[in-house]
Amino acid sequence: NCKNADDVLKAVKDYNVSFIQFWFVDILGTLKSFQITPSELENAFEEGMGFDGSSILGFTRIHESDMVAWPDPTTFQICSWRPLDRPVARVFCDVKNPDGTPYEADSRYIFKSILDKAAQKGYTAYFGPELEFFLFSSPTNPEILDVGGYFDAPPLDLANDVRRDIIFNLQAMGIAVEYSHHEVAPSQHEIDLRYADGLTMADTAITYKVIVKEIARKHGCYATFMPKPLFGENGSGMHVHQSLFKNGKNAFFDGSEKNSLSAEARAYISGLLKHAKEIVCVTNQWVNSYKRLVPGYEAPVYIAWAQRNRSALVRVPLYKPGKEAATRVELRNPDPAANPYLAFSVMLAAGLEGIEKGYDLQNPVEENIFDMGPADFAKHGIDALPGSLYEAAMELKNSELMKRVLGDHLHTNLVENKLIEWDQYRTHVSDFEIEKYLPVL
Ligand code: GLN
Ligand code: MG
Ligand code: MG
Ligand code: MG
Repeated sequence: NCKNADDVLKAVKDYNVSFIQFWFVDILGTLKSFQITPSELENAFEEGMGFDGSSILGFTRIHESDMVAWPDPTTFQICSWRPLDRPVARVFCDVKNPDGTPYEADSRYIFKSILDKAAQKGYTAYFGPELEFFLFSSPTNPEILDVGGYFDAPPLDLANDVRRDIIFNLQAMGIAVEYSHHEVAPSQHEIDLRYADGLTMADTAITYKVIVKEIARKHGCYATFMPKPLFGENGSGMHVHQSLFKNGKNAFFDGSEKNSLSAEARAYISGLLKHAKEIVCVTNQWVNSYKRLVPGYEAPVYIAWAQRNRSALVRVPLYKPGKEAATRVELRNPDPAANPYLAFSVMLAAGLEGIEKGYDLQNPVEENIFDMGPADFAKHGIDALPGSLYEAAMELKNSELMKRVLGDHLHTNLVENKLIEWDQYRTHVSDFEIEKYLPVL
């Protein structure tokens, strides 16, 4: 575990590293990478490495396209899936302008800013995402590889060896794994990571996705984080467990309160609920994301919170009631195809807004929301999430909070990008229409 540039330079020598990959993401969270040789590394720590920003989605600016990637030495790791003889390493980068100021569309910078804001109030934010994925035969064919369901063991679970290999690779990269299992849908899986501070966890989510895809490839199959690849089956979510610590203590825990939820936890949940519609375009950023957020598949549709109820948007897990460290809130709408930096940014911002403004928390809804009718919705004051990428993009567009959190440049670019995607989808003639209309009209 390197602390500074000198540690990295030494590790590169000691391990006879052949290449160093410089990683950062575009505004949608797609991983971008370029490789340098060890001889360039010292210079890269001193001056950064320049690249053409105009070719990176969301980075385009009119006057200037020169940007600089600055490696963060604390993220240096040997890539476990690459040859271990003359190994390849990677570092995450901060993207800056040539004058050294942070680049305003760098997702990692946006997230750091909001983490700083939390820190100014004395909070350290922790995140624990559950990233679900499917294994298929190829990227062009969603053919399932087993018919297992939730917690099924081999031989119904045929991906035991793939998951085992993924876990060993995660551990080799310094990522702590808690458990893994077959998920509800056929050929669907989950590997749960031990919670960590925000920046570490956002970087880790990127690494997780790379490792899952690389190891699946080694096993001759294709791993996808597409939110809803199979009609009629559960989609893949990324539930995000969140807590705030203050002075080394979990600020969400208060043993004297009902269910041990502190006033801060209640206000945080209420921030998530109140701003849910505005943040969903970031946490669920694709046309396909909204095919997962439908009733009946353990994914949320309505804006409510609960202690046990898995149809709620926010759940407070009660596995270890009253246990301080385990007290947390789980946001259930995000999917693993989100940009983790921005997804964590917007949920943290919404929660902090709840605390700052002292929002009141509505009552929990423990009934199954999918069994309710319009009268119940009115009675409980329950609203629905946006039903499509279009609705979500409009909520994002009109959100003052999101403008503030994402900054003008990123906010504008994201909205624009999503409305273009929506328009492509809206005008596309699908198999559904050909099958339904052509024979009869
Ligand atoms: N796959 C479900 C979702 O879309 C979650 C299922 C679960 O983790 N129990 O959110
Ligand atoms: Mg889980
Ligand atoms: Mg799950
Ligand atoms: Mg969960």
